[in-house]
Amino acid sequence: MSARPHVVVVGSGFAGFFAARTLERLLPRGAADLTIVSATDHLCYSPLLPEVAAGRLDPRRIAIPLHSGLRRARIVQGLVESVDTGAHTIDVSCDLADPLVLPWDRLAVTVGSVTRRQPTPGIEDHALGLKTLVQAVYIRDHVLRQMEIADATDDLEERRARLTFVVVGAGYAGTETAAQLQVMTTAQLDRFPRLRAEDLTWLLVDVAPAVLPELGPRLGQFALDQIRARGMQVRLRTSVTDIAPDRVTLSDGQTIPCHTVLWTAGVTPAPLVGRLGDAVEHGRLVVDSQLRVPEEPDVWAAGDSAAAPDRHDAQHRPYPPTAQHAQRMGVVLAHNIAASLGHGEPREYRHHDLGLVADLGRRSGVARPLGVPLTGWPAKVVAKGYHLYAVPSMANRSRIAADWALNLVSRPVPAQLGLVRPGQARFAAAEHTALR
Ligand SMILES: Cc1cc2nc3c(=O)[nH]c(=O)nc-3n(C[C@H](O)[C@H](O)[C@H](O)COP(=O)(O)OP(=O)(O)OC[C@H]3O[C@@H](n4cnc5c(N)ncnc54)[C@H](O)[C@@H]3O)c2cc1C
Repeated sequence: MSARPHVVVVGSGFAGFFAARTLERLLPRGAADLTIVSATDHLCYSPLLPEVAAGRLDPRRIAIPLHSGLRRARIVQGLVESVDTGAHTIDVSCDLADPLVLPWDRLAVTVGSVTRRQPTPGIEDHALGLKTLVQAVYIRDHVLRQMEIADATDDLEERRARLTFVVVGAGYAGTETAAQLQVMTTAQLDRFPRLRAEDLTWLLVDVAPAVLPELGPRLGQFALDQIRARGMQVRLRTSVTDIAPDRVTLSDGQTIPCHTVLWTAGVTPAPLVGRLGDAVEHGRLVVDSQLRVPEEPDVWAAGDSAAAPDRHDAQHRPYPPTAQHAQRMGVVLAHNIAASLGHGEPREYRHHDLGLVADLGRRSGVARPLGVPLTGWPAKVVAKGYHLYAVPSMANRSRIAADWALNLVSRPVPAQLGLVRPGQARFAAAEHTALR
């Protein structure tokens, strides 16, 4: 290593990618060495994962490669297993015989979140999450496979079970995924003359009393009416108590034969956060308004893994774990690390939500851009436009636009790829939750 200070960013999600990109801009050449260490070699634009699962986007469209998005940073693809804040080193496992030990002078922790799993029996082995591209690709194959099996069998109960899909969690990830996959499976029925629309069941389950609570009661009700009108069953104030390979049990005691449970009931910070030994709030690293970890003068954190206090909130509750906050926190974190090295002034993180968008498939969506409630086709246009604007790569953006344009005139190719084996799609493998 050179004698220059070494800045290390851990994680290449919204916070890490934008932190590294901003640091490249703020730090003069030769002022510091910059390294980004991440389990993936790309930023996954996760708001469009439901479209990948529904086959409306090719998976590569939403993977923004670090090697083209970053110019100067050294990129290390590996899993940070531990952080030694005393010795200022991290241990990185990256399929070499020995872990890499990287020294750092400034550390940015942007490891994001993983699916929050309740201790529901069967969840690890029989439920699928949607936090990564691996999971999205697998879900698409799995759902198409269930349709093939349903078509092959003459047993009507087996057929109905194969065509019953349960989605747990009615936030934006779960509702969008359920809505888009239901549209996808319904559109596939004409390929299978033996299958009838009545055999197909999509069930959305949540303990909360409403869907899409992030968008408020009016838009949530609109979304609920839309998906129910399309035939989706929605059970609110209900949870899942047991998941078996061929059935799921609900808190009201009902057992539903099915082979698909998608679990999208919230997120919790990535496991590395718990290994730092620093203060956490609901599992997220406590940081001050400059995103610095108290007691650790050289460590900053941003995104889903950090609990940054919202000064606009009367109780200073942390900002919600969303991409728009993670991205903007990444930029502020970069300014503050650069300032600590003598380049520029530190900043506080303050951001008013620009609003959320949710694509409900077909010509429908709900959105609240800058506080203005929109439904139906206008919301859909806003959602598409926002994502095109927000994807941080021209190459990805133009390919996404091309896929969307093609979808208007032809159906996405309904073929299983078989690239992901079931074990690779389980939570522990797909979300890297099993640190050694
Ligand atoms: C299906 C879905 C839909 C969503 N829709 C929206 C939306 O419409 N709008 C919105 O604002 N937000 C949305 N979100 C939330 C948004 O994706 C997250 O808030 C955002 O990704 C958080 O960014 P982050 O940088 O904190 O973490 P992440 O994007 O999760 O990135 C974390 C990074 O850290 C890496 N990492 C983790 N642990 C380690 C380790 N030990 N070593 C090395 N690398 C590690 C990961 O590989 C990853 O690169 C959605 C999320 C999902 C799953």
